[in-house]
Amino acid sequence: MEQTGTAGWAGMSPSGTVTLGGTPLPLVGRARVYACGITPYDVTHVGHAATFVWIDTLARVLRDAGSDVVICRNVTDVDDVLLAAADRAGAPYDRFAAIQQFYFDRDMAALGVGQPAQQPRAHAYIGQAIALAAGLLERGAAYERGGQVWFRGEAAAQAAVPDRELALRLAAEYGDDPADEGKDNPFDVAVWRVSHGGEPGWASPWGTGRPGWHAECAAMALHAFGPAVDVQAGGGDLCFPHHACQAAMAEAFTGVTPFARVRFNAGVVRVAGAKMAKSTGNLVLVSDLLKEHSAAAVRLLILDRRWGRDWDFSPDGLDAAEARLERLQAAAGRPDHGVAGSGVGGSGTAAVAATRAALAADLDVPAALRIAESEGGQAARSLGALLGLW
Ligand SMILES: [Zn+2]
Repeated sequence: MEQTGTAGWAGMSPSGTVTLGGTPLPLVGRARVYACGITPYDVTHVGHAATFVWIDTLARVLRDAGSDVVICRNVTDVDDVLLAAADRAGAPYDRFAAIQQFYFDRDMAALGVGQPAQQPRAHAYIGQAIALAAGLLERGAAYERGGQVWFRGEAAAQAAVPDRELALRLAAEYGDDPADEGKDNPFDVAVWRVSHGGEPGWASPWGTGRPGWHAECAAMALHAFGPAVDVQAGGGDLCFPHHACQAAMAEAFTGVTPFARVRFNAGVVRVAGAKMAKSTGNLVLVSDLLKEHSAAAVRLLILDRRWGRDWDFSPDGLDAAEARLERLQAAAGRPDHGVAGSGVGGSGTAAVAATRAALAADLDVPAALRIAESEGGQAARSLGALLGLW
């Protein structure tokens, strides 16, 4: 991704730091971002877009502030939902995944989401997942039963979701099968699972099988970055069990705590209060939105809010984003208050600094937009560039 810095701070953040949820992120050296990517079994909807546009924007803001951001965004191409979808389509799972991945990449490119430096695919990290399982067994953090390796997940569940009933519901919703009587505790999660029949499987010390979802991400993240990352990122629906279990496995394996300095979970996008799902027929596809709206308007719809809050998609919201984009464009066309044409020394420079300070403080895009719209000139021009709007 190209640098978007323009204000001449020699790579330094105006406020000296960029914070996420109150946690400062490094501005010297690398910022390691592990982003949970897609399971390529379905079309890209606005919920996916929101997650990856936010991660892209975080990277742009960190880079602008002088940080060397490295994003690793995995592809979960060994997963039960993908296997089931490929089965329904009558296609081999790996070819099916590659085709869905193509459409995802196309939609992300259309939205101006930069390519991550690393894109590991789960099926290429089976050896690492086996090493993770073996290490967890050795440390007593996991146990083997009937060819399955289970990670002891009770502590991670309690820490992540104190409401036990809710935690059980979430574990069931995300395929961790808390009712499975083959394990010691409902919150134990598969590091390695048995493959049956036509399911993809690999040889392991515990028989033919495949890694569990959380273990795949833990193995890929450890391989990409070593024992810790700066940002563990993904959709808001991944907080538990996925991110909590991924981090707990990595911590138990390496002894390095915390696995992630900060979590960055973008708010979930709903339609009239309901989660988007193919089964309810309420998916809003990125490719459909882009038929009638610019990518800039879609980005602004996603970004003109606080990143962690769930929100409702509506056509009205998109119209409002279009109107706001026009206002920002008009503001960008206004002259700076300072020395005409120089962009230096006048109030334009202070306004640019103010927009950047707003972004540096927990990515407060609405505040940055308010400043840019009222001040106009260079502040609006540089903010639009930084947010990937032009
Ligand atoms: Zn993941």
